[in-house]
Amino acid sequence: MSNDTHHFEVSKHKDYLYVIKENISLVHPVYTNDPLNMYLLLGSHTVLLLDTGCGLYPLRPIVKSLIGERKLIVFNTHTHWDHILGNNEFGEVYVHENEAHVVSKSYDLSFLKDSPNEIVKRYGEQNFLIPPSKIINILRDEDVFDLGEKEVKVIHCPGHSPGSICLLTNTGELFTSDVAYYGDTFLPKRDLFPVVLKSLSKLMKICEEQPDLELYPSHQKYPCDKNLLTDLYNGINNIKNLWDTKKAFDFFEAWQIDDESGKFRYYISRI
Ligand SMILES: [Zn+2]
Repeated sequence: MSNDTHHFEVSKHKDYLYVIKENISLVHPVYTNDPLNMYLLLGSHTVLLLDTGCGLYPLRPIVKSLIGERKLIVFNTHTHWDHILGNNEFGEVYVHENEAHVVSKSYDLSFLKDSPNEIVKRYGEQNFLIPPSKIINILRDEDVFDLGEKEVKVIHCPGHSPGSICLLTNTGELFTSDVAYYGDTFLPKRDLFPVVLKSLSKLMKICEEQPDLELYPSHQKYPCDKNLLTDLYNGINNIKNLWDTKKAFDFFEAWQIDDESGKFRYYISRI
């Protein structure tokens, strides 16, 4: 079992960008999209933490040790459990208005109770009800935050979830959250695919305007280039041709379809 010091893997990717990785398969083997990538983006006076992870071990002391006296702001890219359960370590968090209701109350993790992994006992100490952050601030599409010599713009990209956001910096990074990464890809019901594709188109257009952008997804490999977006767009468009190959995956209440390219495995919500 991992311990406090080895649970997170921290790496300095650029002078102003740290990556804090957490393996979510530790929680339940059903999750194979390791690692979760949290990002710490350092401006001259303010630092942005993107997501707070699984809440198993203290994250705040690690963040504090990296940012010095600078002010910290915390965003949730969306409110799936693996991105928000450290929220209560921080006084306030920002989240898109469509999902503020999810992180405004304790988060019910009882669906993880039967995990074969010992580590879920840590959640059991809190009866699988993880408290929220005290203050919830709202994010909206095109909000801009000045971190000092660095700006980030919020891009609302619904689909993976109704309030998923991506972030565009003025220094050439696009943080794609769970909207786009290589590996297990969680999609809404099929009738919402146009919403997913519209969000991907929005990101593809940004990449056309700024061809040198680096993409930083919230899971698995980083950085990626804009091919990630076209690969995923084309893959989702092709799901209709693979529909007969779908298998029920009950833990996620989803249909599972393996992409022909081997780049993605789709879980398409049945509810
Ligand atoms: Zn995730």
